[in-house]
Amino acid sequence: MYTLVFATNNQHKVDEIQSLVGKDFHIIPLKEAGINIDIPEPHDNLKDNAAEKARTIHALTQKNCFSEDTGLEIDFLNGAPGVKSARYAGEDRDFQANIDKVLHELNNTTNRAAQFRTVICLIWENKEYYFEGLCKGTITTVMHGEKGFGYDPIFIPGGSTKSFAAMTMDEKNSFSHRQKAVTQLFSFLKGL
Ligand code: IMP
Repeated sequence: MYTLVFATNNQHKVDEIQSLVGKDFHIIPLKEAGINIDIPEPHDNLKDNAAEKARTIHALTQKNCFSEDTGLEIDFLNGAPGVKSARYAGEDRDFQANIDKVLHELNNTTNRAAQFRTVICLIWENKEYYFEGLCKGTITTVMHGEKGFGYDPIFIPGGSTKSFAAMTMDEKNSFSHRQKAVTQLFSFLKGL
């Protein structure tokens, strides 16, 4: 079995990824690795933020590890909130405030096209590798569903009529940006 530290404090992401990877890999979230820090995301693009997180954790643990950074890119907002998705409405990373801000900004438009983009940075045997996953969809006018996290209640992936927050984890995984990036990551690792 391979062991990989996952540079996140977000239990939703850990659960989503662990449910995808099966028994060949043991994913260790930061808490389990004994690391209690909030890793900075200072860059203006997802790739550099993912790299920053993976390098920080690699320097601390000297273990194989990966990180991911995700953004919601809305056409009408020229790609915002994008890399600022977590803190769109302020530093306290309030999911509800972020959703309210997006819905308010899209109030007067029918152009609701958007996509989630995930970039993963893997550090394996001291080398860096990158993987990307995209999920195109639309932003709703009101919130739907109780599950998931972040912008899930207002995002409907293409090919579905349900928001991510109205789906089971397996349904969300069958569409999601993170699933696509993670699938590439694990097929890469299995091919080594
Ligand atoms: P992070 O910086 O990669 O943790 O993600 C930035 C923000 O994007 C999160 O705080 C969430 O608001 C949002 N986000 C990331 N992934 C998802 C997802 O799968 N569904 C809904 N929102 C997400």
